[in-house]
Amino acid sequence: MSTTTSSVIQVSGVTKDFGSTVALRDVDLTVNRGEVVVLLGLSGSGKSTLLRHIDGLERPTKGTVEVLGQHVPKLRAKELRRLRGRTAMIFQQFELVPSLTVLENVLTGALAQLKGPKLGIWAYPKSFKQRALQHLDRVGLLEKAYQRADQLSGGQQQRVAIARALMQDPEILLADEPVASLDPESSDQVMRLIREIAADDGLTVVCSLHQVDLALGWGDRIIGLRHGEVVLNTPALGLSKEQVMEIYGRVATTTTELTAIEAELVANGAAAEAAAMTGTVL
Ligand code: ADP
Ligand code: MG
Repeated sequence: MSTTTSSVIQVSGVTKDFGSTVALRDVDLTVNRGEVVVLLGLSGSGKSTLLRHIDGLERPTKGTVEVLGQHVPKLRAKELRRLRGRTAMIFQQFELVPSLTVLENVLTGALAQLKGPKLGIWAYPKSFKQRALQHLDRVGLLEKAYQRADQLSGGQQQRVAIARALMQDPEILLADEPVASLDPESSDQVMRLIREIAADDGLTVVCSLHQVDLALGWGDRIIGLRHGEVVLNTPALGLSKEQVMEIYGRVATTTTELTAIEAELVANGAAAEAAAMTGTVL
């Protein structure tokens, strides 16, 4: 990689209104190539909305969104499709096709590179199948290639979704709470895998999370969102949980939020684990 940094995502002054709800308020965010960024915030803080702007699924009410040098809200459908080909997304609920095999699910990641619908494995060129199998090997699931996707555990399904994203050969990986439905052990595994792949491939990653514990020590930088506003933007290295919680605490405006923050602050190992399982706390 070159020593000069270049931004691949530039969100400037973005406000997004949904009727009377302000989902994002004057958000600025710059992400450099190869950077791994965490969007941290409670439910409803605007994480998904921000990711959806980067992926061109939402248009800002105000402000600009530039991804890989292109003004996302101004793109025509065809240009947007091309840009989305360079930006892969993974979701909390994996979004696999349950009745298809693992291998077929991974292959669907390449659909944009091929013409026409592809029904069944035989419809894909051999080179694509080889690549799909390589990606499955990389996420540790080669032996599951011919099983139905719905026979896999949650953690395994998310790893299949990662392999599917890799089929796009993306430059940017957007992950919207990728471990919110997973138990702590699978969460760790999936987070580690994303980090590893990002480092190996020089991928730029923006990953939303609601657990402070997972965010600390994982990303290069943490962006804290609250009520659609950026309340924290700092390198993750050396950041303590107390510092993060303090920032959240200072701007908590409802009892529920304060309770959530307090619970997180006093959480010992077991309580934090329970919170991660239920996905309730920050
Ligand atoms: P998060 O992902 O952090 O939970 P979201 O981005 O989903 O937060 O939501 C931010 C706010 O915007 C919430 O108040 C949510 O209800 C609202 N919101 C999100 N999408 C829509 C939509 N399509 N229509 C109306 N309100 C929305
Ligand atoms: Mg969300």
